[in-house]
Amino acid sequence: MFSAYNYPSSSSSVEFYRGPVLRSLSDNLSEYFEDALIVTQKNGEKAGLIVAIGEAAKVAKELKLDLSALKKNMDLLMPAFFDTHFHWVQDDVRQMPKVSLIEWLERYTFPEEAKYSDHKFSSVKAKRFWKRILSVGTIGGLCYSSIHEVALKEAFKYAPEDFNIGNVLMTMNCPEDIRQSPQRACASVDNCAKRYKSRYVCSPRFAPTTCPEAMQASALAAARHDCFQQTHLGETKNEIQWVLEIYAKIKGFEGVKTYTEIYERVKMLGPKTIFGHCIYLAESEWKLLADSGSRIASCPSSNAPVDQLGIGSGLFDFEKAESMGVPWALASDIGGGPFLSMFDVMRSFVLQNREIGRHSATFTKALHRTTFKGAELMDLSADRGMLEVGYYLDAIRVPMPPGLPARANGEMALEALIRLMPNRESSDTFVNETIIRGKSCFNKEAVV
Ligand SMILES: [Zn+2]
Repeated sequence: MFSAYNYPSSSSSVEFYRGPVLRSLSDNLSEYFEDALIVTQKNGEKAGLIVAIGEAAKVAKELKLDLSALKKNMDLLMPAFFDTHFHWVQDDVRQMPKVSLIEWLERYTFPEEAKYSDHKFSSVKAKRFWKRILSVGTIGGLCYSSIHEVALKEAFKYAPEDFNIGNVLMTMNCPEDIRQSPQRACASVDNCAKRYKSRYVCSPRFAPTTCPEAMQASALAAARHDCFQQTHLGETKNEIQWVLEIYAKIKGFEGVKTYTEIYERVKMLGPKTIFGHCIYLAESEWKLLADSGSRIASCPSSNAPVDQLGIGSGLFDFEKAESMGVPWALASDIGGGPFLSMFDVMRSFVLQNREIGRHSATFTKALHRTTFKGAELMDLSADRGMLEVGYYLDAIRVPMPPGLPARANGEMALEALIRLMPNRESSDTFVNETIIRGKSCFNKEAVV
């Protein structure tokens, strides 16, 4: 896809991509170029770094390049995705019937996760999953594995380097075959953090299934080894009632009033902790999250109504998060989310919010929250998540929507792209090529 070219005036070697480009610059600004030119560094440590990007004729003029020598690609290039909350071990239960969160977990998800105690099973699944996630254009993110260290090891074997992963810690209120003793959970989080360092995510599943000791051990291990932490918070009303009932009986937590307060008491709040969902939070909980710098991964396609293949949990109030200054990004929550593709997540975010009149939920915003803001949640946004000079070329090549006017704005281009998919399933096979740091790592033409 790239043409190599040596600057006549210097010895440094660069690569070029010419063709239609869509990029995200902020929540309110996405740009479409009918004919763009991207110049990246070809060699060395900074290979793939963008050194110039913009209207092809303009960039060529500035760099004194002969544009006619550069072939124009027909596909549309746009930023690749970061998915900040998903469970790779739930890939096979994404499409199972969902009536409610707890029932779906107990009937399908927990039995599925139990299978990952088997090394061979985990190995086969990991090899398949991490190939598939690249094929939908997701190049990094924060991921939950099952409790088993063996499955975690297999996941790390195949996951590209910008995926951070953690085995869930579960010590109570769950089936025996996916339950650890508190001692085992505490030892596991510490050992794994030591072994995988910053790529490990300390992952107490959520307060109902993880005892305070294990959550405390998670917070300690994360601080000691500079890891992220992740867990679930305020996804459904039943879950909140359940967690408060459980903790009312646990010594030292009797007076606890809110779900977030439980996490606060075990010292899990902080800028390196990503809370999934956060749909039902009291004012005091928003304040705890804001004051501690905690971050949120919102999963609209998972939270969507049951007739939209979600769990029917409700809709995250992103405007509230923004007014409180709590950083947030979009995520798929595979397998609560029915599809792997972040295109499906974007679509679900926009449609659900539009339905209740939250019109600031544009496709432009959705793209920013699945790319740059995802990278930012993972502390990667200094040079990742945006097609801009000084950032690495992390991109996907997708079919060009026919009939798009040359002067279309980014929002129009995005809507046209989403409309191009005949159904939701097809979002998972929409991407033609995935590029990480300028290097192709999935190419549909090569696979077929
Ligand atoms: Zn989840």
